[in-house]
Amino acid sequence: MNVNQQPHMASPYGQPQSGYQGYQQTGYGNQHVPGGYPTPYAPYNGPASTYQPGPPTIFIPSAPPTVSQASASAAYTPSAPSSFAPSSAVHSQPLPPDSVAQTAPQPFYGAPPTPPQPFPGAAPPFSAAGPAQPPAPPLGSQQSFSQAHPPSQPQFTSAPPPVSTASYGGPPPTTQASHPRAPPLTSQPSTFSGGPPPTSSPSQYPQPMPQQPPVSQPNPFHSGPPQPTTAAGFPPQGGPPLRVPHPGVQGPPMTSQGPPTSQTNHVAPPQPGMLPGPPPVNMAGPPAQPSMQGYPPQQNGAFGQVRGPQPGYVGQYPGQQSYVAQPPAQAPAPAPKRLDPDSIPSPIQVIEDDKLNKGNEPFVTGVRGQVPPLVTTKFQVKDQGNASPRFIRCTAYNMPCTSDMAKQSQVPLAAVIKPLATLPLDENGPYIVDHGESGPIRCNRCKAYMCPYMQFIEGGRRFQCGFCSCVTEVPPHYFQHLDHTGKRVDCYDRPELSMGSYEFLATVDYCKNNKIPQPPAFIFLIDVSYNAVKNGMVAIVCQELKTLLDYLPRENPNVASNIRVGFVTYNKVLHFYNVKASLAQPQMMVVSDVADMFVPLLDGFLVNVAESRVVIESLLDQIPDMFADTRETETVFGPVIQAGLEALKAADCAGKLFVFHSSLPIAEAPGKLKNREDKKLVGTDKEKSLFQAQVSFYSNLAKECVAQGCCVDLFLFPNQYVDVATLGVVPTSTGGSIYKYTYFQGQADQERFLNDLRKDVQKQMGFDAVMRVRTSTGIRPTDFFGSFYMSNTTDVELAGLDCDKTVTVEFKHDDKLSEETGALMQCAVLYTSCSGQRRLRVHNMAVNCCTQLADLYRNCETDTIINYFAKYAYRGVLNNPTKNVRDSLINQCAQILACYRKNCASPSSAGQLILPECMKLLPVYLNCVLKSDILHPGADISLDDRAYLRQLVSAMDVAESHAFFYPRLLPVHKLNVEGNALPVAVRDSEERLSKGGVYLLETGLNLFLWVGANAQQELLQNIFGAPAFSQIDPNMTSLPILDNPYSKRLREIIESFRAQRSRYMKLMVVKQEDKLELIFKHFLVEDKNNSGGASYVDFLCHMHKEIRQLLS
Ligand SMILES: [Zn+2]
Repeated sequence: MNVNQQPHMASPYGQPQSGYQGYQQTGYGNQHVPGGYPTPYAPYNGPASTYQPGPPTIFIPSAPPTVSQASASAAYTPSAPSSFAPSSAVHSQPLPPDSVAQTAPQPFYGAPPTPPQPFPGAAPPFSAAGPAQPPAPPLGSQQSFSQAHPPSQPQFTSAPPPVSTASYGGPPPTTQASHPRAPPLTSQPSTFSGGPPPTSSPSQYPQPMPQQPPVSQPNPFHSGPPQPTTAAGFPPQGGPPLRVPHPGVQGPPMTSQGPPTSQTNHVAPPQPGMLPGPPPVNMAGPPAQPSMQGYPPQQNGAFGQVRGPQPGYVGQYPGQQSYVAQPPAQAPAPAPKRLDPDSIPSPIQVIEDDKLNKGNEPFVTGVRGQVPPLVTTKFQVKDQGNASPRFIRCTAYNMPCTSDMAKQSQVPLAAVIKPLATLPLDENGPYIVDHGESGPIRCNRCKAYMCPYMQFIEGGRRFQCGFCSCVTEVPPHYFQHLDHTGKRVDCYDRPELSMGSYEFLATVDYCKNNKIPQPPAFIFLIDVSYNAVKNGMVAIVCQELKTLLDYLPRENPNVASNIRVGFVTYNKVLHFYNVKASLAQPQMMVVSDVADMFVPLLDGFLVNVAESRVVIESLLDQIPDMFADTRETETVFGPVIQAGLEALKAADCAGKLFVFHSSLPIAEAPGKLKNREDKKLVGTDKEKSLFQAQVSFYSNLAKECVAQGCCVDLFLFPNQYVDVATLGVVPTSTGGSIYKYTYFQGQADQERFLNDLRKDVQKQMGFDAVMRVRTSTGIRPTDFFGSFYMSNTTDVELAGLDCDKTVTVEFKHDDKLSEETGALMQCAVLYTSCSGQRRLRVHNMAVNCCTQLADLYRNCETDTIINYFAKYAYRGVLNNPTKNVRDSLINQCAQILACYRKNCASPSSAGQLILPECMKLLPVYLNCVLKSDILHPGADISLDDRAYLRQLVSAMDVAESHAFFYPRLLPVHKLNVEGNALPVAVRDSEERLSKGGVYLLETGLNLFLWVGANAQQELLQNIFGAPAFSQIDPNMTSLPILDNPYSKRLREIIESFRAQRSRYMKLMVVKQEDKLELIFKHFLVEDKNNSGGASYVDFLCHMHKEIRQLLS
């Protein structure tokens, strides 16, 4: 229906795209799709006022670090001769009689179609042109502040300043001391008052830390003179050991233990009944925290201050029996102070606070400049004029008005845009607007698309562009009267006038060569060299495709997919297959002249799956047999992509290549590569060359691919160095993905590979896309990060764009912005849908602008800033030594925090580290980026893995980068099987692990289940069906399906984690003190790591020093 003819009909837009709905449900192959929201939203009951801390973490004495490196399997070197010549004729195997019947026709690969959602004609009133909104509502726990006060500076209360702690006597060598469990911080502004800054230990960072337990190091923060002790702190140690009942836990005896140090900065006197033992661990739920009564107000947000133990708060944890703390009296006068990890900003608490404050009510996008909930919070979005945070997240929702302010603050101004993001089932996808042959209405000058920021004037006959202020005539067919407020009366009937995100059907003017596009094609190119056959990949791919081809993307579930498919196999020559429906058997055509690739057949190469099913199945049955005895070890790679590209060119369509590849392409051919793996370059000025492509061939090829709309997905199965940095050039330039299965073993790894493949084939995507971001006068996009190609400075060209890919855009001022109008951006993506329809998806976003720096700092989003910084740094390593990249990151963050301190924080002692509320996690997360394998590699990470991760992060969304840099660590022994709630996560530090516990760690790419050596027998029985720790098989990759609620719930959680990520996370079981534990510990990112990465505590000290230097 054409809306222009029936403007007043109730639902003129037709329906939201079914294609972008319905992916949340389990599809073929148990494909959960990102964004599943298993539980309905609870009714909003007002903001939660008190932070309920999670169960206390439990300390275990850590074993001495395992010395042996987790050994990766030795590189496999095939010794087979390469004398096998491929047959140039297809083996004429009889068609299996049942081959057709084997494939059950599947009507739809995903979910049933989402019921049509008419555009609500009576949307809640929303004025797009309303006054600038107040800054984002403060968190529930924040006070409100006048402009004069920095947002995060609550009233200083009368609590004493932090007091020094006595020095440690040094823990016994094998035991890491733990810290008294102070309550988590409240979300108050964060001042760290650790006394004078470190003067004597500036060299601690970034040099590798001594191999001592961190606690025994005098902390630079505490190097100042101790401050007067005003509180008694915990009772002195040395009382009779108290055994705390710990049902079922076979751990060491838990002794009564005060805090290891005389933490005298606790204001609250010891409470009667405050037992320093651990709370009883109850498997069925988090331990009760008797008398927990919230937190004392934090003094001026100072870390390390007034962290009084809670009444009844149980302060100490089991397993420290070997630690002897020094009584306070023994402290030498200038005691080196230990910075208590509990006194510095906790990611877990920030995450939990946000859930409480923002997770209970829908996020309504009508208010300009509102900071959305964190990516770790489950929330519902209602589009009322700005794009959902699922499509766009900004580093700052209140941009400085001038470039001077922006430079002063050094806060990056960027948006992380995920244009085709999958939405949860309870949110509507963008509506489709069809303006018929006239196409979308646009500003005459800047060509921005009609959106809520266009102001209609002169009775509705013209509109003024919100981006460039140009006035454009309203075409007669689009005319509508205005109401008394100046709004068009059909405003709420038209998505493009009232919503943040929508799509226009594009006219032929928006098509390449002014021609309606053909439906896209998928081409599968399978390496059949010795390695690929031997490790099982070829057989697995062929077997899987027989079913998977029935699940190609489609928009209308009732109609077969329009996508055509083609097949190529290769080693150092290429084999094309004719699978035309009329053939009795597939035909193979060999192209051995790979220097000048061409497609030897046009008719019969790209076919419709339904029509050619019999021939395709026959082919897929035969391929593994044909090459079962191959001795060919050499492969080509460049010609493979060229072949796919040429096939798409010949068919005059866009499409995607799925390349399954195993080895470094050393065979004589264009794009041939050498093994240039040289770990000696790591850490040198030449390290950057390792991230660069070895030859320019692939970037030229990528350009051609982009021009054709040929997206390349690369599945790698390497046994040794394959030069991912070079092989990845085409995928990362064409909006494609790289998957890497090192030392692939059919049995053990096929689950992960097949899940990735299924998701990758089925996922919703656009083809031959181009994205343009327009902004209002005053700022402009200046830099872009992601998997795409740019031939000019404005157009982001994406041969393919799938629902998981993000493009990060950085903005710079080119003029002043105004507080009144704010800053506007419009992201328009022109693409071809999987059915061949040309469309324009438009996302609009308005943010506030400020003349006070405090407003900027109050409306930042640290997770997005980190996403931007990681991408910026990971691109930086292409051209700079990694050390320089790290230093510049540290410097920029120090400037950000110093600017806040100087301009926004209330005067306070120079020894205090004051962090803005919205950025109090910047140091911990930044440290994770700095310590990452790309910027600070350990000895055991391969160059290929670094190249792979670098490319992966460049297109990550904020939720994935968050888990990637700060993994989620869930104490599953505290799982409550009764409800849906997850136990509160714990911080990524070994100190937080209980020897009696079991923890699930999720990085977005990996899942680990860490089992403490003293885990309860019943727990092990429930999870593993194993009666004892020693009987758990560390090689299991999935949990046994046991008939008990605990097993069921844990497996559900694992599945739900997997469903939230774009890649399948393989589960590894890590037994405490097992050799694999070293890999697991790599992800405990608050600790210092083996390669010299600083601990959170040490890094915070270092940042403090940097900030002080900038301020002095
Ligand atoms: Zn304009």
